[in-house]
Amino acid sequence: MTARLAPLALAALAAALPLLPGVPAFWVTLGSYVGIAAIVALGIVVLTGVAAVVSFGQAMFVGFGAYTTAILTTRYGWPAFATLPVAIAITGLLAWGIGAITLRLKGHYLPVATIAWNISFFYLTGSLDFFRRFDGISGIPPIDLLGFSFSDPVRFYLLTLAALVIFVAITRNLLDSRVGRSVRALKGGVIAAESFGVDTGRARILAFVYAAILAGVAGWLYAHFQRAINPSPFNITASIDYLLMAVAGGVGQIGGALLGAALVTIVRDKLQDVLPLLVGTQGNYESIVFGFVLILILQFAPEGLWPHLRALTGRRVARAHPAQSAAEPIRAERTDLAARREVLRVEALRKTFGGLVAVNDLGFSVAQGEIVGLIGPNGAGKSTSFNLITGVLPASGGRITVMGQEVGGWPARRIATLGVARTFQHVKLVHGMSVIENVALGSHLLGRAGAIAGSLRLDRAEEAGIFAKARRQLERVGLAEQAETVASELALGQQRLVEIARALCLDPLLLLLDEPAAGLRHAEKEALADLLRRVRADGVSVLLVEHDMDFVMGLTDRLVVMNFGAELAQGRPAEIQANPLVVEAYLGSAA
Ligand code: ADP
Ligand code: MG
Repeated sequence: MTARLAPLALAALAAALPLLPGVPAFWVTLGSYVGIAAIVALGIVVLTGVAAVVSFGQAMFVGFGAYTTAILTTRYGWPAFATLPVAIAITGLLAWGIGAITLRLKGHYLPVATIAWNISFFYLTGSLDFFRRFDGISGIPPIDLLGFSFSDPVRFYLLTLAALVIFVAITRNLLDSRVGRSVRALKGGVIAAESFGVDTGRARILAFVYAAILAGVAGWLYAHFQRAINPSPFNITASIDYLLMAVAGGVGQIGGALLGAALVTIVRDKLQDVLPLLVGTQGNYESIVFGFVLILILQFAPEGLWPHLRALTGRRVARAHPAQSAAEPIRAERTDLAARREVLRVEALRKTFGGLVAVNDLGFSVAQGEIVGLIGPNGAGKSTSFNLITGVLPASGGRITVMGQEVGGWPARRIATLGVARTFQHVKLVHGMSVIENVALGSHLLGRAGAIAGSLRLDRAEEAGIFAKARRQLERVGLAEQAETVASELALGQQRLVEIARALCLDPLLLLLDEPAAGLRHAEKEALADLLRRVRADGVSVLLVEHDMDFVMGLTDRLVVMNFGAELAQGRPAEIQANPLVVEAYLGSAA
């Protein structure tokens, strides 16, 4: 409760500030600049802090919003408020186009490309008559709504503050929704997210467009505040400023963006007063100071200042999630498999990495309600086989048939729709997210709510169902107590159990577990074996890679043994244990 009220209290405080006697008008104006910058920085939290996309081009999107309203109001006589939806639409559409082209780039190319876009925009607006070149556009009217004018600085400040509060609420809602989780999942790695049906390319574009729209609205406000615009406030230096705000405050959290926007805006303003007095002449000395400050922050507080401030106030907020009984659990709507005995068939499956044959003409099948073990020495090709079956890696040859469908060439997220869920040998959870949210990601495909429903909180019933289901899966793996813990704080063995709960959340028909018992204690292994027997009793098939032979022999119905990528033997556990080839492969590798 306090978590939701705290921002409201802060906003009320900020709103009261200019009304206090003796507050100079100058501070109110500065407050408006802080508010506008904070809206841009808020977008960067989603884009960079959450979706891990670094953009040096946010000022360009501010420019999109500003130029849209400047042109519509001065040239076509539109009223200011009428241009807002157009500014949002134009910024959003252009961001979608730019994102579709640019977000394919990997590593450092992406930030560099955003720099290029921003510079192009600067020279485009500076050279074309349509944008009135570097002279810019003046005579922009103040914002006016049904005769109520926001030309007065205090009113404008309050309007900016209201916009900021609305966007903070929308951003919080969005991040706390199904779509938000899919964007946050980008931090746990693209592979894990895609394996649970998330279209990660789409999630990145969504974050990009959202951040751009926030910047566009900030630009709309800016144009009507300044009443005149030109290309310079939308140049690359401004983009770097916005990034600095987000990084200095703490790009991972909403509070960080607000803090950073306030800090950078106010300090820059003060430095512009003080530095010329100290140094004597005019110049952009504050940029040098800022660069220095940025380095210090990255050195000593890479998470930004916000977490340190939070530590001082000594409060940690755990999001309360809907209780178990809140709603009917969601069930996967999948055709019943009663008639389909074979869940998975692998034929002549092959994977080469350069000259290395990691999987060599492998063939086996898994029937409904069967637990099959895939065993073999280290490097035999077990994990690679998992990656081929789940579509994480493309096969070099052979056929994979899941639920009677040949899935060659399908991306992982499409194979997941057939009811295939998996865990990873190297755990892939989203570290900053709570255990239950990580598990809820497994239900991604069972939900429907989109970004708009999420940001307006129209998704609560569905979310309650998803979280009820996630909680039940956590109970099944014995981690109900840890539901609200941050995932990275669990021991590795427990993190593996969280991955199993996440996989169960997909309502799988085929469950692939890569070394699920590694790092578990004896009692935990027995509990896991019990769970998997119950899962099997529900008609789910399990394909299991595991090195603990007692665990494997006691649990599996059948075994497939691999060595050097190829099949060494298949059969029931007792047969495999008596097979001299298998014994030799294991002893050979141990020797
Ligand atoms: P297992 O899970 O049975 O221990 P893996 O499937 O992880 O074995 O690996 C099989 C072989 O393929 C190993 O020799 C490994 O080094 C190689 N390998 C696995 N993944 C890659 C990759 N992405 N690139 C190159 N070689 C790989
Ligand atoms: Mg492996």
